[in-house]
Amino acid sequence: MHKLFAPPQEVVRLLMGTYPFDPYGRNDPTKVLLSCILSARTKDEITYPTADKLFSQYPTVRDLCQAHPTDLENILKPVGFYRQKAKYVRDAACYVEKYGVPKTTKKLTEVPGIGPKCAAIVRAFGWGIPDIAVDTHVLRISKRLGWTEEKDNEMKTQEKLKMLLPIHQWVYVNHLLVSLGRHVCRPQRPLCEQCVLNQKSSICPYPKRP
Ligand code: SF4
Repeated sequence: MHKLFAPPQEVVRLLMGTYPFDPYGRNDPTKVLLSCILSARTKDEITYPTADKLFSQYPTVRDLCQAHPTDLENILKPVGFYRQKAKYVRDAACYVEKYGVPKTTKKLTEVPGIGPKCAAIVRAFGWGIPDIAVDTHVLRISKRLGWTEEKDNEMKTQEKLKMLLPIHQWVYVNHLLVSLGRHVCRPQRPLCEQCVLNQKSSICPYPKRP
């Protein structure tokens, strides 16, 4: 662990004030799962309207499982990699129709198109099971905050964050760090002078690093 270290609960408290969030706004496990497939490398402003259109035209997983691939591709065109995602969505719908939406990470990652990040999203937002989804923003900012080491991958990062934060805060971590990462703590040249973690109390160690 780095010597310089931002106090995790204080980070969450400050970010909650800046990026308010209702973690239970979209809580149908099937919709959370299918939306997560659509969300890869796609902005929320595109993902959610596209998902809503998909669900309005195919209200059940049976409908989706039986959908013609070209029809799905036409609906999913606004999202990136829509051909691959159309295939994943259809295969995932067939899986869910047969087995239901799993609750464990192991089973969720057996669903076509679902990796560890989406598995954590489905657990947290679909099922209300505490979990932390680690994506590129969470990975990068956890390092800058001194919570993880440079060499830590997604799994190690998730493990460490779960040890650092109380279980009731896990569901907020992804949203808070993704929001911070998109607006301020960008991959290149983070805007530290505008960051809530670098104001009066200045709890982020990154700007002070030599
Ligand atoms: S102070 Fe800078 S490095 Fe630290 S979280 Fe904010 S933007 Fe990122």
